[in-house]
This record gives sequence, C-alpha cells and structure tokens, in this order.
Amino acid sequence: MNMRVKRMTGILIGFLTILLLGDPRFQSSLADKILPASRSLAAGASTIAGCLAPAKARTAFPGSSEYQSARTVFNLRYKYAPAAFVFPTTVAQVQNAVGCAEQLGIGISPRGGGHSYEDYSLGRGRDGVIVVDMTGFTDISYNKAAGTVTVGSGFRLGPLKLALWNLGKVTVPCGVCPSVGVGGHALGGGWGFVSRKFGILSDSIVEAQVVIANGTTVRANAIENVNLLWSLKGAGANSYGIVSQFTFKVHDVSATMTHFSYTFLKSQQAQTVKAFQIWGQVAVAEVTTSLYLDPSGGNNFYGIYMGPSANLNAVLKAFMDNVPAPSNQTVIETDYITTVLIDGGFSQNADPSVLNLHSFTYPTATFKAKSIIVKAPGFSGDGIKTFVNSLQAGPATSYFIFDLFGGSASVINQIAPGDSAWVHRDALFSIQMFTYWQNNPSQSSSDITFIDNLWSAVRPYASSEAYQNYIDQDMPLSAYYGSNLNRLISEKKIWDSNNVFNFPQSIPVR
Ligand SMILES: Cc1cc2nc3c(=O)[nH]c(=O)nc-3n(C[C@H](O)[C@H](O)[C@H](O)COP(=O)(O)OP(=O)(O)OC[C@H]3O[C@@H](n4cnc5c(N)ncnc54)[C@H](O)[C@@H]3O)c2cc1C
Repeated sequence: MNMRVKRMTGILIGFLTILLLGDPRFQSSLADKILPASRSLAAGASTIAGCLAPAKARTAFPGSSEYQSARTVFNLRYKYAPAAFVFPTTVAQVQNAVGCAEQLGIGISPRGGGHSYEDYSLGRGRDGVIVVDMTGFTDISYNKAAGTVTVGSGFRLGPLKLALWNLGKVTVPCGVCPSVGVGGHALGGGWGFVSRKFGILSDSIVEAQVVIANGTTVRANAIENVNLLWSLKGAGANSYGIVSQFTFKVHDVSATMTHFSYTFLKSQQAQTVKAFQIWGQVAVAEVTTSLYLDPSGGNNFYGIYMGPSANLNAVLKAFMDNVPAPSNQTVIETDYITTVLIDGGFSQNADPSVLNLHSFTYPTATFKAKSIIVKAPGFSGDGIKTFVNSLQAGPATSYFIFDLFGGSASVINQIAPGDSAWVHRDALFSIQMFTYWQNNPSQSSSDITFIDNLWSAVRPYASSEAYQNYIDQDMPLSAYYGSNLNRLISEKKIWDSNNVFNFPQSIPVR
C-alpha cells in the first residue's frame, strides 16, 4: 500500500506504519501478556465456571489457549486479565452471565469489536471481570418496506456494510475501520464518511434489545422504555445493560460517489487547517471529510462526496480557494462499497468480500489517544498557530485527524443536544490526537506528555467537549455528556441502581 492510500484512510495510517505484527519485539511482548494460571484466579474460576455452566455457553478461563488469544484487543497498552470469557450466542446465555456477575460480585464487561481506546471491554479498567464477548450475535434481517435492519450487536462494521449493500444498496452511517464493533460504536455515537448526510450511527437506532441488571430483557424504542433508548444513543457502552440486538434505520447509497484525496506540503499545514474550517461551515451535507496532519509533514484532505466527480470542484470550492495547488491528488468516481474498501485500507479493486472479516483489520497497536471538539467558526489565527507549532515539534510517532462533524448543512447538527444522549450537536469538527510506541516505556511517557501538552495548549481555542467513542481516561464525564449528564444519572438509577454495569467512565449512580 503506498503512502497516499495510507493517508486517505485516516486512523489506519499510524497503525499500519508501525506494522507491529511482524516485529519480533511485539511478539515477545505478546508472550508477556499470557497470564499464568494463578492459584487465586484458578480457585475463583471453578466457582464462576459452575455458575455459568447451566447456560452452556462457550467459556475460556486462565491457562487455556483460547483465553490467551481472547485477551488480544486493539490497544495493546493494557494487560487486563479477565476472570473468564463467555461467548454467548443466545440472550439466555447473556442473562446467565449477568446473573453470575451479580451473584458472585464480579465485574462484567460486554465486548463488541474490542476497539475501545482504553480497553474497557477487556476489564473495565481492572483485572478479574467476566468478559461477555458478543461476537456470536450476528443475525441480520432486512425489512425493506420499513427501511430498517435488525442486527446482532456482535456485527463488525465491514461485514454489516457489505451485507446491507448486497441486500439493497443501503447502509447505516458509521465509522471507517471495518473491524470496529457495532456494539461499542453505536452506543457512543459512530461517525463516518456519510454522517453529514445521514447522522451518526446512534441517530439511526430505532430499537435496542437489552439485558438489564436484574437479568431480564427489555426493548427500548419510541414506544417502550423511551428514556432507556435516549440514554443508549450516545451513553450506552456498559452503563445500562448489554445490548444484544439493534434495529437501525437504513439509508439509500445506490447513487454514484466520489472518493477524493488532496496532499499538501508541511509548510502549508496552517493554511489547510484554516481552509478546512472555513469550508466546513458551508459544505453541503453530501460531503464528509477528514484532514490528516503529522509532525513529519503529513497534510492530507480526503473524504467522500455522495455525487458525481463532475460536481466536486464546486463542492470543494471554498476549501480550494483558500489553499495552494495540492502536491498530489486522487479523485475516484465509483460506488459506495468501493469507497468503503478504499477507506478500510483495501485496494479499490479488491473483492468486497474482504470486508467480511471476523478479526482486526489493522495491526493492533500500543497507543494513547485524546480528542477535542472544536465549534464554529473553528480555531482563531492564534489557535491555528498554537496547534501547528505544537504538532510540528512532536515525535514522528504521533498524528492528528480532524473529522468534520458539523457545518450548517450537516444532519448531525440539525438534531437538538437534548434529543439523545449524544450532546455534541454544535461541533464543527473533532480532532483525534494519537501517539503510539512499541513497548518502549521511556518513549511512551514522553509521547504521552507531548499529547497531553498539545491538548492543553489548544484547549483555550477549542471547547471543553470530547468525543466519547475516542474514550480517554483523563476526561471528565461532563466532556462527553455535557448538559445531558444529570438526566443520564437519573436514568442510571432507574435501570441499574446497583451499578452492575460500570467502568471508570461509565454513568455513575449518585
Ligand atoms: C482502528 C479504529 C478505528 C476507529 N474508527 C472510528 C471511526 O471512524 N468513527 C468513530 O466514530 N469511531 C471510530 N473508532 C472508535 C470506536 O467507535 C470506539 O472505539 C468503539 O467504542 C469501538 O466499539 P467496539 O465494539 O469495537 O469496542 P469494544 O472495546 O468492544 O467496546 C467499547 C465499549 O462499549 C461497550 N460495549 C461493547 N458492546 C456492548 C454491548 N453490546 N452492550 C453494551 N456495551 C457494549 C464495552 O464494554 C466498552 O465499554 C475507531 C477505533 C479504532 C481502534
């Protein structure tokens, strides 16, 4: 894969460039993660196994090879050691796991795709929990007349997009990485390259089927348990229950699409940021983009326009009028599923069946990420200077992605902040800030300090908000839920007063 394609695929870029899987240092570090079957965990294991046994779900305990492979999640930074993994395929088995966790006083972590930036699905911030791996929930049923699809919460985004494309050239708006899980993604928002037209994924949830703390299953939709549905749409990750199934509204993506990518020079980073935010405010809803920047000079503006390439110059005019000629550019007029392939890091000529994956698409990585939300009109001139000067002084193993959420035409901004738990309705864009390393503790501490300092430097020019799907243990809950936090706490008291579902940044009972 050449550099241009890497840059186009946003978050993939940094992870691919380190290619950890081929690195012998990574392989030995993975071996370090293998948990010895300690006496205390082995003792607990028989009690847990006894409680789980009647439901007949597949399980994995310390000491087994399945346990070792199940411990691999996307961010290799943490080494949580769960007490057990459960791999349910029925709701009754999920109910049994929830009942055992409550009865034995053990924490429980549902897991979808395992992409939590803080690995909350592996241990909710500590060892010794029961991980309920939902990847066995992959039923799908498309209701063409209703314009909805009902899917198990264990689906990953790539297989879901492919299935919907094959079923009727429809989709749900969601993120670019094909191996991200629908479960965690939909419950924390879910932004991707058709989101300015169709909203974030949580906006498309019509109904969720949820196993709640008392072990029963409820449906949350526009008629039943309306407030639970409201809470799940942005604050649903392991705070109110385990979602086993979603019904989503689907959206037509049968029309021609244009994938574009423009590369600029390092010396032009400040100009591209300025142009991105000027243009973003007036961009039509049919276009969604990112801007990738890194200290080595990466400066790439890319995205999807839901229309023919002949219109692209007019669609991007307010951006192009404010930047010099790009040093490189690619414009591909194609169909929706090909844009999914390109953004997923595959060749545009690949057979779409490559999206039908069941494990991580990109090499897993050891990283720290932060995010910040910037509201219109964007950074001031001083803010841009501060951001670009800080990033250019950073380590080569860091990168930054501006994701365009808003602008007056964006559907994301046309929903009121109180209409669902996802509050960031006046965001112009979010910035993802990444730094990664290869198990070198001295590098990790200086890299984390760099990201922390950069975040603090731009904070006065941005907002106090951050995006909960880029979860970062340094953030207060107010950054993720703002004015919706009090209502979320009230709902928590109703649905989970004993705080069965929790992690360090879950909705508290207080
Ligand atoms: C490579 C990569 C690319 C990404 N790209 C994007 C992107 O383009 N757009 C975007 O918006 N985000 C993106 N993200 C962020 C992603 O949306 C979040 O990390 C999301 O939480 C991942 O969901 P998951 O199911 O894969 O993760 P998991 O780690 O399995 O789960 C995340 C959280 O949700 C909880 N959870 C999972 N399933 C359930 C369930 N069924 N019921 C209740 N709680 C559950 C877990 O307990 C955990 O707290 C990306 C992340 C990575 C690592």
